[in-house]
Amino acid sequence: MKHYRKELWFQTQRRREYINITPEVQALITESGIQEGLCLVNAMHITASVFINDDERGLHQDFEVWLEKLAPEKPHSQYRHNGYEDNADAHLKRQIMGREVVVAITAGQLDLGPWEQIFYGEYDGMRRKRVLVKLFGE
Ligand code: ZN
Repeated sequence: MKHYRKELWFQTQRRREYINITPEVQALITESGIQEGLCLVNAMHITASVFINDDERGLHQDFEVWLEKLAPEKPHSQYRHNGYEDNADAHLKRQIMGREVVVAITAGQLDLGPWEQIFYGEYDGMRRKRVLVKLFGE
């Protein structure tokens, strides 16, 4: 069985952002030479997510509005976590949107549904953060 590990790095321009990382993940699968197996993709930070959904701008704006209703960024003083930090809302948003995804690899390709795309979700950006990609298979 082959295994493969790589980190993808991101630095967003805004505090919150969604980045479609499907092409980067597929490129790593191709590089690994794995034809049949599993692909794990996880955020390595507790204020960012990896999730699968539609690559559609309106939906991403809906995520923003929905997450701001559930865990509004401001006022910062509403959260106990915000002593030395101001990112309690980002921890909560990450908790809802998830840490990782696992996708099957079939014939050397991500075996996704017709509209499924893999996203990096950033909730406390403007600094360097990373995603782990781990592949197993043959
Ligand atoms: Zn924090």
